[in-house]
Amino acid sequence: MSDKYDVIVIGSGPAGYVAAIRAAQLGLKTACIEKWRDDKGNGVNGGTCLNVGCIPSKALLDSSHKYHDAKHAFEGHGIGTGDISIDVPSMIERKNRVVKQMSGGITGLFKANKVDSLYGTGKLLANHKVELTDNDGNKKVLDADNVILASGSIPVNIPPAPVDGEVIVDSTGALEFTEVPERLGVIGAGVIGLELGSVWSRLGSKVVCLEALDSFLAIMDQTIAKEAKKILTKQGLDIRLSCRVTGSEVVENNGKKEVIVTYTDQDGKEAKETFDKLIVCVGRRPYTDGLLADDSGVKLDERGSIYVNDLCSTSAPGVWAIGDVVRGPMLAHKGSEEGVMVAERIAGEKTVMNYDIIPNVIYTHPEIASVGKTEEQLKADGESYNVGTFPFLAIGRAVAADEAEGMVKMIADEKTDRVLGCHIVGPAAADLVQQVAIAMEFGSTAEDIGLTVFGHPTFSEAVKEAALAVHGHAIHMPNRKKR
Ligand code: FAD
Ligand code: AMP
Repeated sequence: MSDKYDVIVIGSGPAGYVAAIRAAQLGLKTACIEKWRDDKGNGVNGGTCLNVGCIPSKALLDSSHKYHDAKHAFEGHGIGTGDISIDVPSMIERKNRVVKQMSGGITGLFKANKVDSLYGTGKLLANHKVELTDNDGNKKVLDADNVILASGSIPVNIPPAPVDGEVIVDSTGALEFTEVPERLGVIGAGVIGLELGSVWSRLGSKVVCLEALDSFLAIMDQTIAKEAKKILTKQGLDIRLSCRVTGSEVVENNGKKEVIVTYTDQDGKEAKETFDKLIVCVGRRPYTDGLLADDSGVKLDERGSIYVNDLCSTSAPGVWAIGDVVRGPMLAHKGSEEGVMVAERIAGEKTVMNYDIIPNVIYTHPEIASVGKTEEQLKADGESYNVGTFPFLAIGRAVAADEAEGMVKMIADEKTDRVLGCHIVGPAAADLVQQVAIAMEFGSTAEDIGLTVFGHPTFSEAVKEAALAVHGHAIHMPNRKKR
């Protein structure tokens, strides 16, 4: 193996592995360096997403949803189940098998595409050289025309709740509980906090989410956020807004450890709550530890992200950066698209990425999903728009499936009717919002979506009806505006 590459990617998460595969597809000699190891010390590809993020969290969300349905929903369909129980270690084992299968898949794709998969730690030196330290500490320097930095992100820690990996955990620890905690605290009612809180709540934990902000899911459209809060609260999640955690103390009670959390409540008073486990989900930060030599030429911004332009070029020639380690939403698919863009740019193509149309999903049940501008953003920008909403309660497929909570909200430009955003809480919201993302990519109007023939009965019909409602002519509900 020669040590001179066209492209070296550092990090094999969804940003890095996609960049590496696309570069190799384009005929570029490519290597991808990854330092992640499994508990036996073997190198593992896939990054946060496959190992401790998107995939394992969805595996546990699916297991816990099946359990919850069997326990609470089957009876309504006339299905008798007898006693239902949950074997947490088996559930975690299954999740581990899913993770192994998916990360093994990336290694397989590397082989199939002739990407050199190198296990160890990469460090960017000057003039796009990369120092590779293998897992035994041996170092060598590799040369590349282009280097793509895709080192990802790690959970943020806060001093009031230091993670001990036992009673106070981060998102990674919350994927490994061996039993269902009776009382579970979650700091931060954001995407990850709500998903992990939902997993353990469905399995029987009494979950309290402490959120510092006074609005729920502040960056989502607030019509949908309010509806989602109602639904999640009904499910048993105790979401407390304007509650900032200020301290925590791990104590022993009857030989069992628990944590007493101190926080300022909505009235500004000090309050306390005791939990068996506490998950800290207050966000993630870009990860660049040990990544950059002093003379690498790569600059960071004030938030610690690698500074890049719209095309993901860093301040060092021939060095690119993508994914969670750069500005923008920390989402797997955002990094993957940047990976494709950068690989194609290196190969001489003129690819650009549309940062305005990036779907965002929270995998609670029902799912919460959005794409494009929220009504709050449009208002703040002084834009004129029309809004159509449609409830799943009026969708036959949703009622038949006992999934009739939630709604679709479609927003279109008042003058041109082009769809500006779509926000959904409801069944299959992640997949429904993607339909609108495709429509938006092609510049569709609300009328275009309303004129499209949708299969019946489908959840998707809620998207069509919301588009029709933009002009006041939804069919399956009375309209506010008549046309
Ligand atoms: P990462 O996936 O973080 O990968 C970076 C890789 O680089 C790591 O493997 C790391 O070991 C490696 N690395 C770092 N430094 C070096 C070095 N010097 N040398 C060698 N290797 C190095 N996003 C979604 O879009 N949908 C979801 O449903 C979703 N769910 C999530 C659930 C949880 C619990 C968490 C924690 C995250 C979730 N995310 C989700 C976010 C998603 O995981 C990240 O946005 C995504 O993984 C970022 O991809 P990345 O490739 O930029 O970085
Ligand atoms: P996200 O960025 O979606 O992962 O959400 C993280 C959430 O944690 C944000 O909504 C923050 O407001 C919240 N948060 C951060 N620090 C604290 C704190 N000390 N107490 C409670 N919530 C917090």
